[in-house]
Amino acid sequence: MKRIGVFGGAFDPPHVAHAALVKAALAELQLDELRVVPTGEAWHKTRTLSPALHRLAMAQLAFAELPRVVVDPRELERVGPSYTVDTLREFKALWPTAEFFLILGEDQAQALPSWHDWQEILQLAIICVATRACSTGAGAKFDLETTHKSRFRRLLMPALNVSATDIRARFAAHLSVADMVFEPVARYIAHHHLYQTA
Ligand code: ATP
Repeated sequence: MKRIGVFGGAFDPPHVAHAALVKAALAELQLDELRVVPTGEAWHKTRTLSPALHRLAMAQLAFAELPRVVVDPRELERVGPSYTVDTLREFKALWPTAEFFLILGEDQAQALPSWHDWQEILQLAIICVATRACSTGAGAKFDLETTHKSRFRRLLMPALNVSATDIRARFAAHLSVADMVFEPVARYIAHHHLYQTA
């Protein structure tokens, strides 16, 4: 049975914790393939995201070199809000016998009950959670994880205190982001004058 990981995000910009998550998921879950899916219209983010073209290009720079990783533009091409359940349904139709693993940072996993058709998400994929240093109650089990124990897994990667929010603010303030984003992504940001204001 093919094992496929699905990792969605704004990737505005992609950073070292995203890459660490991808590597941990590939190794720990023995994935045949991992689809990195930049979100189109993020219904759950209050800020306007950078244009799709830039986020896709940065995701390709950050992830495409990793073995077994495919950057998948389907949510950027879809009209209307990006719902993870739609993406999982599409994947299920493409690979009906595959097993799916949805990879989430703890903050997103805790918010899962607010997601569109979250019960179906739990049926379609095993939820694999990475501890996030800055999450409320980091590392502690949350309600859904307790009530739906068999549908959750924890990734063993150490928590990294890095966020895209912080990186955007650092770019705007002309502070170093050397340990937070990979060099090609940093060059892309500078070249396209992204994140000039926080
Ligand atoms: P922002 O600060 O703009 O909200 P972000 O850093 O959370 O962005 P996203 O692109 O929104 O990055 O995140 C994509 C996925 O990666 C989400 O599931 C998120 O929880 C996870 N993630 C991001 N940063 C980390 C981190 N430091 N540790 C664990 N998971 C993370």
